[in-house]
Amino acid sequence: MRTSHDRRRFLKLSGAGLAGTALLAGTGTLPQRANGRTATAAHGGEKPNKIIFMVSDGMSMGVPGMAEEFSKMVRGKGTYLASMMQNQQMAHGWFEMFSLSGIVTDSAAASCSWGCGTRLLNGWVNMLPDGSKLEPILRLAKDEGYGTGLVTTATVTHATPAGFAAQIESRGREAEIAEQYPGIVDVVMGGGQRFYSADQRDDGKDLFQVYKDKGYHVARDRDEALKAGEHDKILGVFSDSHVPYTLDQINDDELMKKVPTLAEMTKVALESLDRSSPKGFVIQVEGARIDHAAHANDAAGVIWDQIAFDDAVGVALEYQRRNPDTLVVVTSDHGNARPGMGQYSTAADESFERLAHAKASFWPIRSKIREAANGNGATPPAAVQDVVKELLGIELSREDASYISDMTGDRMPPMYHRSQRNFHGIFNAILSNYNGVSWGCTTHTEEYVVIAAAGAGQDKFKGLIKNTDAFHIMTDFLGIDHKNKTMSREDAMALA
Ligand SMILES: [Zn+2]
Repeated sequence: MRTSHDRRRFLKLSGAGLAGTALLAGTGTLPQRANGRTATAAHGGEKPNKIIFMVSDGMSMGVPGMAEEFSKMVRGKGTYLASMMQNQQMAHGWFEMFSLSGIVTDSAAASCSWGCGTRLLNGWVNMLPDGSKLEPILRLAKDEGYGTGLVTTATVTHATPAGFAAQIESRGREAEIAEQYPGIVDVVMGGGQRFYSADQRDDGKDLFQVYKDKGYHVARDRDEALKAGEHDKILGVFSDSHVPYTLDQINDDELMKKVPTLAEMTKVALESLDRSSPKGFVIQVEGARIDHAAHANDAAGVIWDQIAFDDAVGVALEYQRRNPDTLVVVTSDHGNARPGMGQYSTAADESFERLAHAKASFWPIRSKIREAANGNGATPPAAVQDVVKELLGIELSREDASYISDMTGDRMPPMYHRSQRNFHGIFNAILSNYNGVSWGCTTHTEEYVVIAAAGAGQDKFKGLIKNTDAFHIMTDFLGIDHKNKTMSREDAMALA
């Protein structure tokens, strides 16, 4: 039986969007299918000496399926993650990602649970509230002579990368986290110039120079990044804060030139680690902005960043096929905002197609709506309609535009779920009537997160496992004998 997406036409995007999708499409090929299954070099039995741990930050359960359908719609091909989930020769499971604070984790406690094998309070990085420091996996791996890497679309000092390498009481102290990586992390790539530049740091330290003095090659734009793989130690920082949302980047030629994609950064990092680390390596690759877009309930933003993350998965799988002693683990650190299609049949498909016309993420859209305010401080409904038509390709009704107009004048329409009682929550609740994607909240969720694993040792990631198991599995693979301290929730709460 033909399904509706078989009939869906291959949508034509225009302008920079087309260039962007061409670039995103150019990072690899899907594994060849044999007998309905995806052929790979994956073998589950042996222990890997190279681990590529890939995190789509904030990837709720609805995201992979929407990204799969969207990718087929705008790029004429599916996603690597869906092909991994279909492949019976690969391993599939879920993580239970609870933290010491409770059943909904933040990114710091989540990454540290994998990184040090201990559940922490939200916000802490490899430290317990009694002041004891825990050894994260990249420090342990470095001590044993392995190569190490962190690649992200957040600031390189953000919670998820920090969870594999840093030790600090608060994830917010990113300027200090930046000082902890030299000597521990060989390849550091992502955003966060403001934590490196002497002009922008409160203490005036030039961390670019500090890293150079310790043997790092520094890359500051895409051209430099693409050539950096010949160096053994790399610091690549490509934006002031997080790197741009993929949806904003593919619609901006300057950003395309300045910032490498996550797939490109991953390829460069693997090239460097492969050559410089004969014993093997551990690298974490994070698609960070899925989470940020989900906090804003921005459907097109989430899906485009998931696709950029997926291209990096393709790079990792390609590396794994050439190096069977590699393990690729693809997962998330927690759900976020629980998006999903909330309509039936053709209405859902027609709504979903509207997402392909988005030219900007939520934040520039909000700015543009606010910039169109009249003398009273509010943006007239007609101007709201114009901005939404221009940047999202959606014809808002006058009534819906008037709710958004009210918010620009600081009058909130009714929204009984407090998590969504804000501009982004209400704006995107209204948009869900047009693009079909509705949201449960604007925060992290407790969801079990998907795991797809390919390569040596993959079978350890089957079924429902605890986040902390990842540390014990990975250290066992690498021949590292280390157990970090744990603490009960009651004891931790009493000290915090
Ligand atoms: Zn997160």
